[in-house]
Amino acid sequence: MPDDALEIVTNYGCRVFDGEHFVYKSGMHGPAYINVDPVLYQPWALHAIGRKLAERYIPAGLHSYGIVPDVVADPAVGGISFGLMTAHAINERIDAFATNPKMREMYPEQVMHVFAEKHKDDDGNEYFAFSRTGFVGQLAGKKVLIVEDILNSGVSTSEVISLVRAAGGEVIGVSCMVSRGGATAESLGVPHFDALIDIHMVQYDAEKCPLCADGRPMVVDESLGKGKGWSQDHPDYPTRLLLK
Ligand SMILES: [Zn+2]
Repeated sequence: MPDDALEIVTNYGCRVFDGEHFVYKSGMHGPAYINVDPVLYQPWALHAIGRKLAERYIPAGLHSYGIVPDVVADPAVGGISFGLMTAHAINERIDAFATNPKMREMYPEQVMHVFAEKHKDDDGNEYFAFSRTGFVGQLAGKKVLIVEDILNSGVSTSEVISLVRAAGGEVIGVSCMVSRGGATAESLGVPHFDALIDIHMVQYDAEKCPLCADGRPMVVDESLGKGKGWSQDHPDYPTRLLLK
């Protein structure tokens, strides 16, 4: 599954690399680089990714956990497109089976989709809430799948998990397009965790970078971080281009 997902995002103009040597905007160095923004303006890409994310949560299928959510929930803004397309893909699969009356009986309602928005309290602290009309009401007593675009440390995901539980929902799993912080089902406290692309985004201070110590060539493509500027200051260090 991960290889397919990588192919999807790279076919749609996204950049995903690992095992290389980059300079990030922050000036830190690291082996991985990912930018998946291009899928956000291409509905067919989102559709394909939604279908991949749905594979675990359809009534039957090779990758299915055999549990179907009543609701897909996600943190705004990044998660919305992916959560919506995942819910849509599950509905499509249920509809495809609808000629079987038993299936229609088992899943009489469409899978809903809600998102939590970020707000600020009087002290300026940020928090998530399902603030749109009717959203919280969708969660009580329901099986809820959380969907994310890019999951880093999982802080906003954990917040949404707590919100769903506080609203009386049961979190059946977390799925994301990209995991880059090493999250697991255990670390998130949920039964299932899936990432279409799992990429370890470790970052190093430039002065203590083990990749520099190894002499791994610096990526200098202009659209892949700040390696070009760095290499101008380090003219004797080997460089490498990843894009044609
Ligand atoms: Zn380095």
